[in-house]
Parts: sequence; structure tokens; C-alpha cells
Amino acid sequence: MDYLNKLNDKQREAAMHTEGPLLILAGAGSGKTSTMTCRIAYMIRELGISPYNILAVTFTNKAAKEMKDRVEELIGESPNMWILTFHSACLRILRSHADVLGYGRDFAVYDPTDQKTLVRNICKDLQIDTKKFSHAYFLGAISKCKEDRISPEEYPREYGTDYREQMIHKVYQAYEAALKKNNAMDFDDLLLNAVKVLEQDGAALRKYRNRFHYIMVDEYQDTNQIQYAFVRLLAEEHRNICVVGDDDQCIYQWRGADIRNILEFEKDFPGAKVVKLEQNYRSTGTILDAAHSVISHNASRKAKKLWTEDAGGSPITYYRAEDERDEASYVASEISRLTEGSYTLEEGRKAGRRYKDFAILYRTNAQSRTFEEALSRRGIPYQVLGGLRYYDRKEVKDIVCYMRLVQNRADDLALIRVINEPKRGIGGKTLEKLQTLARVRGESLFDTLLDEDVVASLSAKAGKGIRELTDLIGGLYREQANMRISDIYDRLLVGSGYMKMLEDQNTIESESRIENLMEFKSVIIDFEEDDANMTLAEFMERIALLADVDNHDSEENAVVLMTLHSAKGLEFPFVFMPGMEDGLFPGWRAFDRPDGLEEERRLCYVGITRAKERLWMTGAEQRMLYGKTDYTRESQFMREIDPKLISGDGVMQKKRSNAEGLRSGMWRSEPVRPFDQLKYARQQTKQNVAAMQASAEADFAPGDVVTHRKFGEGEVLSSDGKIVRVRFADGSEKKLAIGFAPLEKRGRI
Ligand code: ATP
Ligand code: MG
Repeated sequence: MDYLNKLNDKQREAAMHTEGPLLILAGAGSGKTSTMTCRIAYMIRELGISPYNILAVTFTNKAAKEMKDRVEELIGESPNMWILTFHSACLRILRSHADVLGYGRDFAVYDPTDQKTLVRNICKDLQIDTKKFSHAYFLGAISKCKEDRISPEEYPREYGTDYREQMIHKVYQAYEAALKKNNAMDFDDLLLNAVKVLEQDGAALRKYRNRFHYIMVDEYQDTNQIQYAFVRLLAEEHRNICVVGDDDQCIYQWRGADIRNILEFEKDFPGAKVVKLEQNYRSTGTILDAAHSVISHNASRKAKKLWTEDAGGSPITYYRAEDERDEASYVASEISRLTEGSYTLEEGRKAGRRYKDFAILYRTNAQSRTFEEALSRRGIPYQVLGGLRYYDRKEVKDIVCYMRLVQNRADDLALIRVINEPKRGIGGKTLEKLQTLARVRGESLFDTLLDEDVVASLSAKAGKGIRELTDLIGGLYREQANMRISDIYDRLLVGSGYMKMLEDQNTIESESRIENLMEFKSVIIDFEEDDANMTLAEFMERIALLADVDNHDSEENAVVLMTLHSAKGLEFPFVFMPGMEDGLFPGWRAFDRPDGLEEERRLCYVGITRAKERLWMTGAEQRMLYGKTDYTRESQFMREIDPKLISGDGVMQKKRSNAEGLRSGMWRSEPVRPFDQLKYARQQTKQNVAAMQASAEADFAPGDVVTHRKFGEGEVLSSDGKIVRVRFADGSEKKLAIGFAPLEKRGRI
């Protein structure tokens, strides 16, 4: 029973209240999850309840695994206990009962890629122009319908029969029919169909009600209506339901989470016992006060405040860096300093800090890149959780392969990776044949593709695609010395069709890929700013070093990087929250929805309360996003924190007065919305490429004055329609390829 003795009175009361509905509503770090784990152990060990009769659900696999591990630490291994995510619990139920709904039990589960393919095929059949209405548009509408439980049949009644609605209706109908025909379900179906099984099959409902006498839900504040229905159906009879959550931590409303589920629990289960935990065991008083001062700006919340025995604690360190590189290197240097042991006693109350004690929690995935680089430079091991390391991302790898090809056309591996990316009609078999041919001839794959006879033997589509590809790579190869790396990059992105492919996909996922590719331009411009004469080969070498730093062997002891969203429920001794700038956090998109800003603020509260001992909040005075630098304004959340809690080493004061100075001159009244910044970056990329291509149309004649993006102003000496000779201001003469050279005609001497 020693584990029960470790709980405080309130927690113990909750853990031992096993019959009847129970709500544990409490702030972050008050031991909600710990109480729930002890409650499970108590039921099994002390009350002799079979693990078989217990269902505990949560949201992420990581949280579910952690809970299971902690329970098993107390009671030993227990294979038939269901501690799962909602989706896996529903999947298990469906594996036994999907036949009720007319599915075979071995149904397939379609992931988002499968869904996309399916909708695309449907649009083709229905002759819908996917340029006007993307498959994401339809999938979004379908998902919303499933969440609201509107079937294809009910759709017209619910939404009317205007042109668009008719189209969605048709696609939805065909989509559902295809899933049925293929014996498949999508992720939304898993939840929805499990609920349907419980509703329609009395025997199944009885079976699970009899099995799960005791039901527990962690992070209940983030349940949506279907998850809610699922829990209610199972719990209604025995009413032994315990839900745990914190209304201040609801951060998934954008995905249908309904905060009312937790606020109205007492109405749903009359007679529910409500336990409020007020003592926080995770964080110092300073961290808690900061969290509280931010969240108390939310109008729609139940007032509650946490206290801790650890009343003091180091102040929160606020660093407003010059720019995002400065921000990242500051964070890396702080981590170095604290792990090397050269810190004062107040700073690290326990000696011997390890890398895994640190977490960097950012708002958007695109922020991870600068931190990865800064950490690599200092040799600090890190792992990116819930996402890929920047250079491991597919789109980044693809574009790097294109660049490798420009640098070295014999790089077969790079070519194989991108030859059908975007689709050029080169299937696996064709590629194999081409590779064999290249091997037999003893030449590179690229050289084989230069052979007109080979190209002519391909399908018309493939032939055209390959010609375009080899022209592009060949042209850039010849001109690379005359181009800035960023121009080569833009040209590859647009000329290869990669950008267009992502734009056509028009999904959340492809949008974020475009963001990452625009972010890659920041990498390039960073390098160009350091060394304007860097060659492509040098650049590729530097990138290869960054991409290859092998931090994976020390994952056990590595700094953790992840988004604020995925950090829910976790804790770390030392936490960094970078990007504290208006427009980034809170993100501008927050202002597009009524409760948007409040949800961002809850996310900030989640972030702050992940820290046990120390918290750093940082921002950058100027931030380069997608290759374009802008001045930023300090996050309004920063201003909401009581200044007394923030370290008074003058950093903020100094930075603030700096900002004043800037404000008079360069400071914009409104920072550029990152959203627009992205749009701007994309436009720039296209304009840049258009300008290069336009040089093909221009008629260059001796005596024309031109500007070249890399070499500046010059005078045309001669031109044969393909190559133009230009003398530049520094006296150098260059031969430039028309159509590739970023050359603009200015007039005549
Ligand atoms: P969140 O809202 O972030 O999910 P939570 O309420 O679930 O937080 P836990 O993660 O369960 O909180 O606990 C936070 C920390 O406090 C953990 O490190 C846990 O071990 C510790 N803790 C919880 N209860 C006690 C207690 N009674 N005595 C000492 N430490 C405790
Ligand atoms: Mg928790």
C-alpha cells in the first residue's frame, strides 16, 4: 500500500473511490494521471478486481504506453488489461464485431494516403475538376460529416442541394460505397463504427458493459462528440466511470474536441463525485505563477489556482535574441552550460544534468530546423519526437537529391529517388530496365537518359518528363557557377514540377511540405549571407554534414524537441519555449476562429506547466521565415506574465529598448502575417524562375545594359540567341546561358 501513502489526501480519496462516477478536474501537474494509475493498481491489488474488467483510454500512444508501464510497475505484467488509445480500443472492438455493420472482420484501415487516392479516383470517375475542388476539400467535408454523424443519405437534408453541396454529396456517397466495397474503414470510421456497433448490437453492448465494469479516461477535456458517445455507452449501466482532465488544457478544439464534455460531466452522471486537486507537484512556484498569470487572461474558464510547496524557484529567463539563429545558439549554449556543470546552485538544484532533462517545445514543426543545427554544432545529442528531424523529411531529402544531381549527374541514387517524384510515368519496371541498360553500357543512369533512342522507347508522357528533367539538370549543371545557390534551388523546385505537385495536392500535409521547402530557402540564404561565393559543391558538403550528424545512438540521453501539442501530459526538468512572438505564438491563424486566441493561450499554459525546475522563454527580434526576414513583435503572452517572475538580468529591458529604437525607424506597425509571408515566399520563387526564363524571350544585343542577380550590372558584348557574353562592372567577362541566367535587360548604353 506504500504507493497509496505517497498520494495526498485528496488524491487518495479519488484513488479509493472506485464505485460510481468520479471527476478529477484539476490543473496541470497536480497528479491526475498519477492518481489514475494508482487507482488502477489499488483496484487490482487491494480490491481484487480483475484487470480484465478495466478499460483506461487516453489520446496518444506515448501516454498510453507510459500509463501501462507505470501500472505494471505496481502490479506486474497484465496482458489482458486494456490501457489504450481511443482508436486502438475501437479497432479491437471492431475486429470482433464489424460484421454487424456488414464488414468482414479482416477489414482494412485506410490511412490518409489511401483516402487521398480513393477520393482522387472518385473525382476522376465523376469528372470533377480537382483543380477547383481538391480532394482535401472533400475529405475535410466528409470527416466533418462523420464527426457530426451525418450519413450520405442525410446530407442533402442537412446541407441543401446547391451546386457545391451536390458535389460533396456525390463524392461522399461514392467514397462510402467504395470503402464498403473494399471492406475498409478510415480513422474516423474506427470511432464512429465502434459506437454504431455498441448502439446496434445489443449483445455486443452487453458483452463490453459486462467486461468493462470500470472505465477511465485521461485528458477527457480533449474528447470529441463521438469519443464522448463511446464512453457514455459503455459506462451508462455500471456508472463506474472516472474521467480526468483540465479544462485549461483543451487544445484540440480545432479537431472537434468539445470542452463541454468535461464541464457537463456532473450533469451527464448525476451524483458524480468531484475531486479537485490543488497541489502541484511538478513545478516551482515561479513557473506555476507564470502559467497562472497567462491562463487567467482567458474569459471562459473555471477559476482555479494551484499551489506548491516549492514556493520559490529560479525566475523565468526571457531572452529576446537578435534573430532565430541567435535564439537557437543561445538555447544550445544554455544546455551546454548546464550539462557541463558550470552553473550556479540556484540554477540547477541537482548536479549532473543530463541532456534528456531538457526539452525544446515549439509551436510549429518548421521551427525545429535552427535548433537542430545549433545543437549539432555543439555536438549535443537530440531527438525530434512526434516528427521527423528536418533533414529526414521526405520533401527535404527529395530536393537535396535534385541538388545533388546538379552537382553530380552520375549520382544514380539521387536520380532514382527523384526520377518519378513528381510522377513522370516512370514505374518500377521501367526504372529497373533503365538501370539494367545503364549498367550494361557502363554509364550513369543520367547519361542513359540522354540517349534519344532510349527516351523515344518510353511512353509519350515518360519521354516528355525525362526530357524536361535532363534539360533542367543539364542546364543548371552548366550554369551553376553563374547562379546563386538560391536561384538554382528555386529553379529546381519549380522546373522539376515538385512545387506544382504539392500545390495540386492541396492538403494540410502538402501545405506543410511547402512550408518546409520554403524553410530550406532560409538555410540557403543563411549560407549565402555568410559566404556569397560559396559554390554548390561546398554548400552540398555542408548540408551533408548537417544531415548526417548521427545523434540516434544516444537517444536514451538526448535533448527532446517536439511541438507543444505533442508535449501534453509530459514533464521535463528544463524547458525552453522558443518563438514567443506575435504571429508565431499566438499564431495568426488563431484569430480566424472565435475561440482561437483562448485555445492558443491554453497551449501556452500547457507549455509552461511542462517545466519542473526551470523555464526559458525566447523570441527573436528578426525572424527569417521562408527566406524572408521580418521584424517581430514580442508575444502578447510574454506581456501577460507578471514581470516580477521574469529574470531581471536586464535582457528584456535592453532588448525592449532596442526594440523601441527599431520601432522609430524600421519597425512595422503590424508584423507581416507568417501566412502571408509564406505566400510571398512562394510568389518570389515563381517570379524568380519566371525572370530567369524570361531571359529566353529577351533579345540581347551588343550594348544592352543588363542586371544579373549574382554579378550585378553589366553590358552585353554579343549574343547568339543561346549564349550571351556580358562584361560586368568589375571588368569580368562571362558567358551566360539564355533561359537560365537570371538576367534582366535594363536598357541601352
Ligand atoms: P498534466 O495535467 O500535465 O497531465 P497531471 O495532473 O496528470 O499533469 P502527473 O503527471 O500525474 O500530473 O504528476 C505530475 C508530477 O507530480 C509527476 O512527476 C508525479 O510523479 C508527481 N506527483 C504527483 N502526485 C504526487 C504526490 N502526491 N507526491 C509527490 N509527487 C507527486
Ligand atoms: Mg496527466
